[in-house]
Amino acid sequence: MNKTAVNIVWFKRDLRLQDHAPLYNASQSGNPSILLYIFEPSLISDPHYDSRHWTFVWESLKEMQLKLEKHGHKLLIVCEEAEEIFRKLSELWQIEAVYSHRETGIDLTYKRDQQMARYFANEGVEWHEYPTNAVQRGLKNRDGWRKSWNEIIKSPQQKVDLDRLAVVEFTAQSLRRLNQEIPDVFMSSNAAFQTGGESEAWRLLESFVHKRCSDYNASISAPGPARTGCSRLSPYITWGNLSIRQIVQYMDEHYSDAPSKKGLRSFKSRLGWHCHFVQKFESEPRIEFENMNRGFDDIRTDWNQENFNAWKEGRTGFPMVDACMRSVMATGYLNFRMRAMLVSFLTHHLWLNWPEGSLHLARQFLDFEPGIHYSQFQMQAGTMGVNTIRIYNPVKQGMDHDPEGEFIREWVPELVSVPAGLLHEPWKMSRMEQGLYRCRIGQDYPEPVISDLKISYKHASSILWSKKGSPEVKEENRRILQMHVKKRS
Ligand SMILES: Cc1cc2nc3c(=O)[nH]c(=O)nc-3n(C[C@H](O)[C@H](O)[C@H](O)COP(=O)(O)OP(=O)(O)OC[C@H]3O[C@@H](n4cnc5c(N)ncnc54)[C@H](O)[C@@H]3O)c2cc1C
Repeated sequence: MNKTAVNIVWFKRDLRLQDHAPLYNASQSGNPSILLYIFEPSLISDPHYDSRHWTFVWESLKEMQLKLEKHGHKLLIVCEEAEEIFRKLSELWQIEAVYSHRETGIDLTYKRDQQMARYFANEGVEWHEYPTNAVQRGLKNRDGWRKSWNEIIKSPQQKVDLDRLAVVEFTAQSLRRLNQEIPDVFMSSNAAFQTGGESEAWRLLESFVHKRCSDYNASISAPGPARTGCSRLSPYITWGNLSIRQIVQYMDEHYSDAPSKKGLRSFKSRLGWHCHFVQKFESEPRIEFENMNRGFDDIRTDWNQENFNAWKEGRTGFPMVDACMRSVMATGYLNFRMRAMLVSFLTHHLWLNWPEGSLHLARQFLDFEPGIHYSQFQMQAGTMGVNTIRIYNPVKQGMDHDPEGEFIREWVPELVSVPAGLLHEPWKMSRMEQGLYRCRIGQDYPEPVISDLKISYKHASSILWSKKGSPEVKEENRRILQMHVKKRS
């Protein structure tokens, strides 16, 4: 039997229908396409991911499906390993070419892509991969990187005419050999998390550019105000509901009537950082497992599971740390400064190595983006070598960014009756105050997991600064600067 020649557009973390190079190029190729998303069991069970991520993906796919249906098309959503799916599809169709974005992901997806490249080569299938945002593969250094970021972001978007798109028709019955059963848990939305999909992404972008950007700079460091003052676009960028080009071009178009040009400029520079950090990871993916600067390999060799559990579960006895952890676990979001503080508390004050902690937070962050996550985690842990060492004092962070304690009381209800003056250091309450404010330390709310922040600060600071001056760290710094930082002319 002659099989129909088809292309496959393989959606990964690019869940949108516009400014989508794979979809656009497949639509120009002459063959009809199958639009495919694969829920891969190995990725679903990977320790970086949580069902919150797959619910976001499901919501995004549902919206794409509705849009496609209006044009008479259908997205094929399956749940199986990638190679297995392509093997089964090739029994039904002659797969000529596969179109996808190139993913800068965790080791598992990188190896999956290597395996698929071998499979496609063996089967004579062409695989057209397109860069994600402005991230480039195979860079040796950053010369000219900024210029090319600007060029890519300013270049025309690849608009797909959905009416003229030729999509292969199929019925669920005709594909019964494919597993199309998606776990129920992914389909049950939770109002505490942001909802996936292009329309919510655009709604947030519009409200940010036309209104909310005026609060951006003032609210960025405070965990409560940041929830509305920051763009909140991160999960939509991570999962590709919007491309960075779409965001920047929309913003530039409306820049002249924006309520805060300063806010938009700060925001735009962060979109550049997004690609910068992902590029770092693209060039040095081993930082998923190893210190970026190998000169720090012999520090933090002891482990304390009890302290780690206290951090992970938000019961360290430090209200700002616990509020931040509980809030990110419940909502999937935390602003930059407080993410940095959580890492600092783990790696500096508790002096625990970063890998376990980075997995835990990856599962919590709805916007988990491996490139940003690992680079930032190591920056905050002080294992980059080239960055300033920052050791945050969680009491000071609480006093500075939640002076009245609204955020803390929301997430640590044990402290709800404690007045602001005592809230940030509740262990200092007298027995009488503990009774008065209905919070017995050690019973209702934990004793602090470390007894003196000054001692833990000194310990971390002296080791990190002396390491920073060592020949191994300096040697590694030269290598890191050469690879990841633009040379000064
Ligand atoms: C330890 C740690 C881990 C982090 N992990 C992630 C992650 O997995 N995914 C993620 O998107 N961000 C991560 N960040 C960066 C930052 O905290 C979030 O991007 C930001 O809080 C998301 O909120 P927003 O979209 O409202 O950001 P906005 O301030 O509105 O910024 C707009 C966009 O710029 C990018 N951006 C903002 N800040 C940074 C930054 N410091 N570095 C790189 N890009 C940035 C993001 O794409 C963000 O959506 C991490 C930061 C730290 C300290």
